Amino acid sequence: MKILVINAGSSSIKFRLLNSIDLSPVLDGTLERIGTEHSQLNYVLFKQGFKENSEQSFAIKDYTDGFKLILHTLSNKVFGNGLIDLAAIGHRVVHGEQFKLPALITETVINAITKMIPLAPMHNPANQKGIEICREIFPLIPQVAIFDTAFHQTMPAIAYRYPLPESFYTEHKIRRYGFHGSSHQYVTHCAAQVLNKPVSQLNLITLHLGNGASATAIQAGRSVDTSMGMTPLEGLMMGKRSGNIDPGIVFYLARNMGLDFDEIELMLNKQSGLLGVCGSNDMREILCLADQEDKQAQLAIEMYCYRIKKYIGAYFAILGRLDGLVFTAGVGENSPVIRLKVCQGLEHLGICIDPEKNSLAKSSEQEIQAETSPVKIMLIPTDEETEIARQTLTCIETEL
Ligand code: ADP
Repeated sequence: MKILVINAGSSSIKFRLLNSIDLSPVLDGTLERIGTEHSQLNYVLFKQGFKENSEQSFAIKDYTDGFKLILHTLSNKVFGNGLIDLAAIGHRVVHGEQFKLPALITETVINAITKMIPLAPMHNPANQKGIEICREIFPLIPQVAIFDTAFHQTMPAIAYRYPLPESFYTEHKIRRYGFHGSSHQYVTHCAAQVLNKPVSQLNLITLHLGNGASATAIQAGRSVDTSMGMTPLEGLMMGKRSGNIDPGIVFYLARNMGLDFDEIELMLNKQSGLLGVCGSNDMREILCLADQEDKQAQLAIEMYCYRIKKYIGAYFAILGRLDGLVFTAGVGENSPVIRLKVCQGLEHLGICIDPEKNSLAKSSEQEIQAETSPVKIMLIPTDEETEIARQTLTCIETEL
């Protein structure tokens, strides 16, 4: 049997088909630019030790057509003869408010996801649409929602509450939730294997540094604090998101520059971060520009690493004892320069990177600390799809 993982975004659908026995990938694909004449379907088919790559363009007017194309591709390349051998479908859902665990999708769960739309207006509508269309296409196949926020539900109130009037929390659920949960959870489990220690004894700081970026403090294998908040806008400086700023700036912009809330929200989410400071949100490009003495690119990199360092310091203080620091996602997995800059100066905390191991490390699980480093420093490639598939299987095994 197979598991299908769906990550439906605002104009794209990422999907992965995996074998349910060992979670090995069968077909990994992305459908981008939905709603245009030139939607792009790219996939890799894994076949007995080799990979078949495909890139095709189609006119896909909406999500329903998009899912039909994905189903057609899966039938064509994997299932054949219309026999769909699916054990379950796991859907990534960004905001899960109070959900602590994956949820078997029912009308009640769909209604709960709808109610959470105001908390994640940029993400939950697309996630929900993906679920609804898949239920229409596959009415008999169990479907599971895996929430980005669930892993962080173990945060204590001192970490998740904002110092705002009580009623904002009790009546409006304004609190910190945290995101990238599947990624932080996945690398935590991998780190336990790398360090050969039970997850329940592990204190870590995990750094997910992709386009979005977040840091998590893991105590005894559980998230006790994380940098993203009620929305993914809080915390680290990101590709296009500002991360932490003085909230007073919002009022200043509205009062003195005449920006309305939609404009401010757009600016903070799409025009800030690395992009805002140096004109690019692609770290590879920014590193090249910095090498060519581009001052804005150099500043953007320094700010990016400085803000990560501040979180490491804060989380070290919370945890008291640190077993490992984990780098993951696009920047964390691929940029020795950023990893080095983040770790430099943290030797007094026991975080001592080995520059040579670091410069050679790329895209696979490895330790990059110096021999004498009390804290292990690890590069662990994230794999949210595998984590979603694993949780989907566990959910249907316990719920059905
Ligand atoms: P997303 O959040 O979209 O999944 P990714 O995890 O793919 O993002 O990370 C995207 C980021 O990773 C981009 O800023 C990209 O430039 C950066 N990145 C990818 N490869 C490298 C590399 N070799 N060196 C530096 N940055 C890289």
